[in-house]
Amino acid sequence: MTVAASDAAPSSVLERDHLDLVRSFETFIRRELAPLANDLPETRDIPPADLRTYVRKRSAALGFYAGEYPEELGGSDMPLTAVVELHHAAGRSGCSLAPYALGGSDGPSPLLRHGTDEQIARYLVPLVRGELVRCFALTEPQAGSDAFRLAAVATRDADGWVLNGRKTFVSNADRADIALVVTATDLGDGRATGSTAFVVPMDRPGLRIGQRYEGMSGEPMFELLLDNVRIGPEAVIGGEHGIGAATALAIDSLSRGRLIVAAQCNGIAEHALRLGLEYARERTAFGERIGGYQHIQEHLVSSHAEVESSKLLTLASARLLDSGMEAPQNAALAKLTASQTALRVVDRSLQIHGATGWVRGHPLEFLYRHVRMMTIIEGTSEVQKVIVAKSLGLY
Ligand SMILES: Cc1cc2nc3c(=O)[nH]c(=O)nc-3n(C[C@H](O)[C@H](O)[C@H](O)COP(=O)(O)OP(=O)(O)OC[C@H]3O[C@@H](n4cnc5c(N)ncnc54)[C@H](O)[C@@H]3O)c2cc1C
Repeated sequence: MTVAASDAAPSSVLERDHLDLVRSFETFIRRELAPLANDLPETRDIPPADLRTYVRKRSAALGFYAGEYPEELGGSDMPLTAVVELHHAAGRSGCSLAPYALGGSDGPSPLLRHGTDEQIARYLVPLVRGELVRCFALTEPQAGSDAFRLAAVATRDADGWVLNGRKTFVSNADRADIALVVTATDLGDGRATGSTAFVVPMDRPGLRIGQRYEGMSGEPMFELLLDNVRIGPEAVIGGEHGIGAATALAIDSLSRGRLIVAAQCNGIAEHALRLGLEYARERTAFGERIGGYQHIQEHLVSSHAEVESSKLLTLASARLLDSGMEAPQNAALAKLTASQTALRVVDRSLQIHGATGWVRGHPLEFLYRHVRMMTIIEGTSEVQKVIVAKSLGLY
């Protein structure tokens, strides 16, 4: 029996469970999103905010957006494996609007799953439905990877909390309705206790957007300034139990976040590989198709091998997590591998395109800039290596 190369790929073994879901998501991309994306100027990196809002809400109505959240909160109760496959399909499609159809850094946050009933009803449910946008403010000038050595501080008083400090590199702050802000905790009686996460409406007096940082691929990030921001006790995520417990609340979602970034990277890598293959089959040089030259084959075969290996690692790690086996080193290994693979594959495919791929507006020119963040966000590559090294007993 002869089968199509993509159906015979080793990773297809782990993709079978959610084939129907992925197919219907791909149909949504092809029928509804691709025509809208085709109308955008080629040199525009990021789709306009109103279009992103439309995509988010439409996808939520169809049950794709934030699919991992329970049905009673407006989600679709999907296992992580299904969510990973959707992120992969979004990247693989090459449609610039597809990633916005799935919850990202502006969507529902797993931190809010630990919220009080009121926080879940007021914030998490509208986030799952795509009706609210949030940002997440953790990083500070002196606290990046070492994220819990925070200088921003929340001080308790008789009415609740007063927040002061400076947060940097906050994505989506310009269009967010709420900020999830993590600070050090001063209990007001001279005692300090760990870090605490708060949900703060963006229009709260004292909360202000400062500097704007232009990202390589067009998505801006912002400084968030907290100047005596007063909030009530109900703003602590998780209520009384959440005081000083931000690390504990976040820990169970770290692996999920990393596997989703890994899936996004695999999708980007597969898209870049397809572009490289198509070009290599058509472009001629010295009277031959360039795909016939071994140096070009080396780029493509190495990329294919690395993408397949990375997909298998990501999908297998997601399966293990779905089956209840939480091993942080698996997600770290998958994210490390997928992000570095995506960087290499995009680079090679651009090389295969020569000057054509380097021109502003070409998909590979955008991906080359866009993919660079992937070894920095959700824990840098070095931090993933620290996690894996620990699991190997090297600390
Ligand atoms: C596109 C993008 C979006 C972002 N969005 C947000 C956001 O919405 N909210 C937010 O709070 N933050 C956000 N960030 C910030 C991001 O979380 C941090 O950049 C990240 O945690 C790394 O911190 P840092 O940049 O300060 O680097 P540092 O932590 O200062 O690291 C510098 C270098 O040292 C290495 N290093 C650090 N510790 C170790 C170690 N123990 N062993 C070996 N090497 C080490 C790092 O890997 C890196 O190479 C975003 C960043 C980017 C690029």
